[in-house]
Amino acid sequence: MPPVAAAFQPDLVVLNANVITVDDDQPRAEAFAIHQGKFIAVGSNQELQPLAKHAQQRLDAKGKTILPGFNDAHLHPRELYEETHLRGTVDIGPASVSSIEELVAKLKRKAPLVPEGLWIMGGRYEDTKLGRHPTRHDLDKVSTTHPVSIRHSSGHLAVYNTYALEMAGVDAKTPNPEGGAFDRDPDGFPNGVAREKASGMISRAGPKLPEPGRSERIQALDRCLRAYLSKGVTSIGDAGASPSKLRMYQEVQYAGNPIRISLMIRDRHLDAVEAIGIQQGFGDEYLRISAIKVFHGNSLSGRTCWLSEPYETVNPVTGEKDYFGIPPARSQEDLDTLIKRIHDAGLQAAVHSNGDREIPMVLDAFERAMQQSSRPDPRHRIEHCSVVNEAILDRIKALGVVVAPHSYIHEHGDKMIAYGRWRWARMHANRSFIDKGIPVAQNSDSPVSVCDPLLRIQSMVTRASAEGQVFASSQRVTAEEAIETWTLGGAYATFEEDTKGSISKGKLADFVILHEDPTQVDPFKIKDIQIESVYIAGQSALR
Ligand SMILES: [Zn+2]
Repeated sequence: MPPVAAAFQPDLVVLNANVITVDDDQPRAEAFAIHQGKFIAVGSNQELQPLAKHAQQRLDAKGKTILPGFNDAHLHPRELYEETHLRGTVDIGPASVSSIEELVAKLKRKAPLVPEGLWIMGGRYEDTKLGRHPTRHDLDKVSTTHPVSIRHSSGHLAVYNTYALEMAGVDAKTPNPEGGAFDRDPDGFPNGVAREKASGMISRAGPKLPEPGRSERIQALDRCLRAYLSKGVTSIGDAGASPSKLRMYQEVQYAGNPIRISLMIRDRHLDAVEAIGIQQGFGDEYLRISAIKVFHGNSLSGRTCWLSEPYETVNPVTGEKDYFGIPPARSQEDLDTLIKRIHDAGLQAAVHSNGDREIPMVLDAFERAMQQSSRPDPRHRIEHCSVVNEAILDRIKALGVVVAPHSYIHEHGDKMIAYGRWRWARMHANRSFIDKGIPVAQNSDSPVSVCDPLLRIQSMVTRASAEGQVFASSQRVTAEEAIETWTLGGAYATFEEDTKGSISKGKLADFVILHEDPTQVDPFKIKDIQIESVYIAGQSALR
């Protein structure tokens, strides 16, 4: 007699869970079954019992909470792994130094280890935590025989010592470059703080950094992606990729890294993308090209973004009142041309834009491109979209644009002080976006804020900084809403809402098991919830 072969054997059945599905048809469940990497049934313990009987593997969740895997829709793995693993950049963020004296002392300890004439570099300083930006006069105490550069946490400005400025031939007569500015001493000589495009002018003039070997880079990238996985992140959007990065990610995946990756290719590589002739959606469920990344505007946390009403603070360069930020380097006409080209190529545009004077330019460009050649649902994106008003919200909604706003008030609430309390309710406007029905794809913009979705969700729910100050409680969202922006929201942004982002029958079986329910705990303790395990395509993704 043949063995009992008739009964269907799912790969895995999970029972006794508190499942937050992020599926409106069935918001909560107790159990689900997985076969060949997908959810094949979601329901009550009783409903799943017959499948559980024959399952290859059964998991009793013992009442723990299960969510869809998190999707960090915009981050920068390269910056993180190159800085911390490959270039020996000294961490001078607020967790490491709390004063300018400590910052100088920490960098100075590095000096004997670096050959003279080569860069000493520091990363992620925060002027608001230090009381001011360090200047070249501070960094000259680190070394007068090395170029020294330190980068602001926003990534949009840097400070150099006198050696580095002289090496670049910058002096009192050097004008500010288009789209950038030098802060200056009273005699007109730059004081070392270089904003936006001014920073690249100096770093490019310095000694070339040693290029790490290929296998070293791939190992470092793998470590970086595994750090994301350990935080429950099963999908990421690389917001600054190049075609060569595609190959690196492929190698990382061949070596066994299971994380799902979408690439936003920088616009300077648009020729290459057009030459291959691919359009939006190219790739598979592990690795795809999702968008073309464009910069139009400056930094929110660096306080260089262009505003329609002035900052509360004076112009940091000239000391004058009525500082509106730094205008984007590109004209409206050039932006229109670029966006039209992306749109006509059948690609999605993902445009970095923060200030409420930059964003309307982006919306104008989207509108013109969409009017000239209609394409069903191009779903263009605005990355950050930090300062808004009613007119901007209405236009975003009307154009079907996706936004990828910040959720970093926990770390960077203090950066909002320069914008004025009256403006806080129009910043990082997650509540307004959701109320308008605008799709939100949440993200860490790591390393700008840490890739840790539970901390980011807490920040959205509380609108509180680590120091406990609340920045416009009117923009708070519920934990359920925040979870949706961290799961289904990211899937929607890459046109993958039908295949992932919720625990629903037929979707990819990516999920995370938590020790507590983020919708039930004290909102100020969401970040402390322990992650028990992370699954991608029904397989444990942590090792
Ligand atoms: Zn970014």
